[in-house]
Amino acid sequence: MPVPALKLPRHASPRMLLAVCQTLLLVWAAPAQGVAQDLALTNARVVDVVAGTVSEPTTVVVRDGRIERIGGAPPEGMQQADLLGRYLAPGLLDAHVHVGSAENARRALLTGVTTMRSMGTSHYVDVGMRELERAGHLEAPEYLAAGYHVRPPAAEAFFQDHPELGHLYGSEIRGVDAVRAMTRAIVSRGVDFVKTNATERAGLPNTDPRKQFYSQEELRAIVEEAGAAGVPVAAHAHGDGGGRAAVLAGVRSIEHGTYLSEETLALMRERGTYLVPTIAIVRDLTIPGGDYDNAVLNIRGRHMLPRVRETAARAHAMGVKIVAATDTGYGPESTTTLAHELLELVGIGMSPLEALRSATLTAAELFGMADRVGRIAPGYEADFIVVERNPLLDIGTVQDVLMVVRDGRVAVRRGDWPGAPPVS
Ligand SMILES: [Zn+2]
Repeated sequence: MPVPALKLPRHASPRMLLAVCQTLLLVWAAPAQGVAQDLALTNARVVDVVAGTVSEPTTVVVRDGRIERIGGAPPEGMQQADLLGRYLAPGLLDAHVHVGSAENARRALLTGVTTMRSMGTSHYVDVGMRELERAGHLEAPEYLAAGYHVRPPAAEAFFQDHPELGHLYGSEIRGVDAVRAMTRAIVSRGVDFVKTNATERAGLPNTDPRKQFYSQEELRAIVEEAGAAGVPVAAHAHGDGGGRAAVLAGVRSIEHGTYLSEETLALMRERGTYLVPTIAIVRDLTIPGGDYDNAVLNIRGRHMLPRVRETAARAHAMGVKIVAATDTGYGPESTTTLAHELLELVGIGMSPLEALRSATLTAAELFGMADRVGRIAPGYEADFIVVERNPLLDIGTVQDVLMVVRDGRVAVRRGDWPGAPPVS
């Protein structure tokens, strides 16, 4: 495990330095979790998401949290885990979560998610969790942080963290100057993505998700300000007007995209903008329990669900890059998992391989991490799931992961069998 490494922004304020010191104290006070173990996974049918093939049972050697080689005999003296011919696939990437606690992050890991992208939490909880996980103190997926949404109006909590922007308190965060100031403040806290809301939300009973929030000019200001620090922008957008403005402004991904027109989808294909449709969570609106349990949202979900499925199907047919995500907090009441989104993606016409790529290869590309996660290959991080059946024939098998390996550590193992590895 690496020593605690905190990324400091170029212009750290005294307040920021204080926060960093507090985080470091937390890091050093907490007991370290288990370290990466060297492990030879034997009799593994390896799912190659690049080639779209599955190997005969073979050995995957993991050293220092990375894949050293595939094939050959297990190194002498190395701990072995016999997979009995089960299927070894890359750990899953969830591109849109709102995880705000260690407990919820652990729940994501249990479903096979080994990397996740925050699309907003209060008080930079995602930044702090990212650092704790990086330093080996949290058993959680790797976490990319976004902090607050740049949206009108900004969350109350944002001003508690940024009293220096108190002159914007209670305002709508409109206009190029205001959105630039808010973006700069968020970027100064070391986020990996900036999240903005190009349209109103769907998950509140009294809002209209088609309503456009920001003009192309305002969105471009956000993209420029974040881009100056090397940070990409993700735009929440249901309606077509806000979605198109965000694409033209240069965001890297559109989240949801329910009502996007064919013209906007064509622009996305042209510019390489990713679509993160989050279909399974819209389904959650239509059924009792889960993250959303409200009569008005239930009615809305019933007319949104066929639309988001239709848009995602059209996007896929047109060649827009699609990435899987849950848009859940992985809370105790959550019933949506990334496997449900993969089933939805197969439902809109993707092959199981294409669906699996949307949660591995394509997601890693969106995250800017394609050189180290998202596939099983020498040199890549040892992030795996083990499933009973061939996911390229039956994607539903991903609903029931038997093992989750994160950075070479067996984080989850369900069931017991001769040669089963210990959970570290
Ligand atoms: Zn969200």
